[in-house]
Amino acid sequence: MPLVNQGTRALLLIEILRGLWLTLRYMFRRKVTINYPYEKGPLSPRFRGELVLRRYPNGEERCIACKLCEAICPAQAITIEAEPREDGSRRATRFDIDMVKCIYCGYCQEACPVDAVVLGPNYEFATETREELLYNKEKLLENGDRWENAIAANLTADAPYR
Ligand code: SF4
Ligand code: SF4
Repeated sequence: MPLVNQGTRALLLIEILRGLWLTLRYMFRRKVTINYPYEKGPLSPRFRGELVLRRYPNGEERCIACKLCEAICPAQAITIEAEPREDGSRRATRFDIDMVKCIYCGYCQEACPVDAVVLGPNYEFATETREELLYNKEKLLENGDRWENAIAANLTADAPYR
């Protein structure tokens, strides 16, 4: 039989006192919450965020329009059209990704032989309309230019696991 029965516990407000003691203990511990969006938590180098298309350091597009990403995408979110340039190199004339369809599986990144299409670290790209999430090649390249430094560092950090 317990030393203090339920009635006595209620009378002495034991549960409330235990709750207050718990609150007091946590008041002096390091805070686990952050003041988002002014503060941000760490992100894994393998985080899968907004899609980008990358360039080489000389500014040339990496994508060679092999369409492997389009073929592997389980959501059929990628549409590519391509034709050879005058110099014989093959480049995409159209590269669209429907970010509403995308399920962030990362298969396109895995399939790409030249690390052109990558899921970047940006997760703040909410929009007010669906149309704004239909990305074309210019938008994807713009994303790549914006996040290149972080992406290059992440790809290097992630190298042993790729
Ligand atoms: S992350 Fe997955 S769903 Fe999204 S575009 Fe790439 S392959 Fe398709
Ligand atoms: S992004 Fe990569 S996988 Fe997709 S078409 Fe271009 S080179 Fe091929």
